[in-house]
Parts: sequence; C-alpha cells; structure tokens
Amino acid sequence: MHLLVDAHEDLAWNILALGRDYTRSAAETRQHEKGTPNVEHNDNTMLGWPDYQRARTAVVFGTLAAVPLRRRLGEWDILVYADFEQAHRLYRAQLDAYLSLADRHADKFQLIQTVADLDEVVAPWADETETHQVGLVVLMEGADGVRTPAELEEWWGLGVRILGPAWAGTRYCGGTREPGPLTEAGRALLSGMAEIGFTLDLSHMDELAARQSLDSYPGAIIASHANAAVIIPEYEGNRHLPDAIIKGILERDGVIGVVPFCKFLNYGWKKGDARDGLTLETLVAHIDHICQMAGDASHVGLGSDFDGGFGLEAAPAEVDTIADLQKLDPILASRGYSDPDIAAILGGNWLRHLRETLPS
Ligand SMILES: [Zn+2]
Repeated sequence: MHLLVDAHEDLAWNILALGRDYTRSAAETRQHEKGTPNVEHNDNTMLGWPDYQRARTAVVFGTLAAVPLRRRLGEWDILVYADFEQAHRLYRAQLDAYLSLADRHADKFQLIQTVADLDEVVAPWADETETHQVGLVVLMEGADGVRTPAELEEWWGLGVRILGPAWAGTRYCGGTREPGPLTEAGRALLSGMAEIGFTLDLSHMDELAARQSLDSYPGAIIASHANAAVIIPEYEGNRHLPDAIIKGILERDGVIGVVPFCKFLNYGWKKGDARDGLTLETLVAHIDHICQMAGDASHVGLGSDFDGGFGLEAAPAEVDTIADLQKLDPILASRGYSDPDIAAILGGNWLRHLRETLPS
C-alpha cells in the first residue's frame, strides 16, 4: 500500500470542542460518543491513530481553526471569536493541543517542523509490518488569530508552517461567502509570511484575493482542501477553485488537496441526503481534472477535511474511515494512472512539497 498524506484535518478543533482522543480508533470514539448530547457531531468521526495505521497515513496537516461569531453554526460551535484577542487565544489553545498530543503520545504522533523531522517520521513507514508515528504539520486556517504580522515569527517558532489567511473573510482578505480583495493588512501579512518562509494556503480565499496572492506572493503556494469548481454540479459561491486559480497554483508548482465531502462533489447534496449517489469515482474526476490541466500527476493530493465541517454522514458511501481512501488506488489504476503516479497522488506530492518548502 502506498503512503497516504492528508493535507487537512481539524484535529485540534475536535480535541478542544468535543474532547476527541485521536489515539483511539474511529470505531472506539464513535462508541464512546454514542448518546452524548452533541447531536451535530455525535459518533461521526472518521479518524484515529489505529485508522492512520490501517490507511498508512504517515503525515497529516493539522489545522488551527476558529469561527467568527457572525458565522457561528450552532450552540455546539464553541470555538468562536468576537474579537481578535479571542481569536488569538483560540488558535493558541489549539496549537497547545497538538504540542500536548505529541508530547503525551510521542510513540504515536510527532510534530513536523523541518525536513529532518519529516525524514525521521516518514522513513520508518517503509516497514509495513510495524506501527509508526504519524507526523503533524501545523496549518493555520483563517489568520484572525495573528494579531499583527509582527507576531508571525512567534507562530513560526511554535511550529506553524502553513497559513491560509481566510476561512470566512478575515481582516486580511475576502473569504468563503464573504468576497473581497487582499486588504492592506493582508499584503503586510503576506510579506511577513514570505520573509519567514511560510507556505500560503489559498483554500477559502476569495478568487480576487487568491489572484492577487498568486501575483504577489513569492513563497510556496498550495490549496490544502478545495475541489475544481468547474466540474461540481449545481455549484455556486467562492469556496472552490476556478480553473484560473488552479492554473496559477500549477504555474507555481503548488499542490491541491481534493476533498471527499458529498456537498463539495455535488452542490445539490444536502445534509440528510443519502451518501450513495456520490462515490470516490466522483472525487477522482477532480483529481483527473487537475492532472489534465497540469499535464502530469505531480500537483494533486488529498485534503480530506474529515472531522471538519462534516463527518461520516457526508462522506461518499464507500468511505467509513480515512483507511478507505486507499480505495482510490484501484480506481486511479482503472483510469490508466501508473503506480508511481498513484503513489504521488495519495501522498508523494505532498511529501515532495514539504521536502522542498520546510526548513532543513
Ligand atoms: Zn476549511
């Protein structure tokens, strides 16, 4: 089995908001959560260390993510900020959750901040008979937790390596359902990020802000979790990537993580709808679209967003946990992808990108 890399999981959000213990298997956590009052997120996890082992998931990009009060999703949504000080505290608490996870369970998780860390985590996975540490690369989703660009150095020192300025709109740029350009503060943020060496995540950025960033950001650029807008049925909005943005990311040698979320595969899908109309074949269409545009299989990967805005109820029918993403292998093979190309798509492209962009 090829190694899997997942470029987007809101693990810290779940640890803090729902008390999830990711050293457990998804099945165990679901059992544990049965009957608990949190109906929105009850027993729907798709992640856990034993599942990472089954999936051969060597590296996960773990996010720091919080929601501005105006976009609160419900009573259960507790990582919500009314001002930037609050945002800062929530993002910092999530960072601490990763540090603590890696500290308390050093046999299971390790933070990846450098190429040396990456090699240390990934090399042992060549042995398929043993269990291994899962590497965590910290990704900040929505930059309202950064009070001023001067603070970037501190976040970098704490381990953040990838930064996406938007979720909703932030004071740095337009975001999902809140269109707008890079603001003056946004331009200052980007120049601070470039100076230090952050990778810029365009996911959730409004198209205008994404275009401006592609024109001005000199550092590495990715989209950790977004699909190809042009092939999503009934799609409207600014959450996914128009071909012009995909082209821009490809020109910058970036990688795009596709998302196996039913709603992101067909905008007509609603919560409560059956999952069986949407399959991993539908996800492969997004992989294929990006590969066709690139002319190679070197610029696409996975950004599942599992345990993010959705769980089991909104994943394609044949997907129960992250381990089922390995089912992409035979589907890609049947589409004519070679074994090295499949290895690249499932994880190799993200590993290459990390090797090229992390400090030594
Ligand atoms: Zn997101």
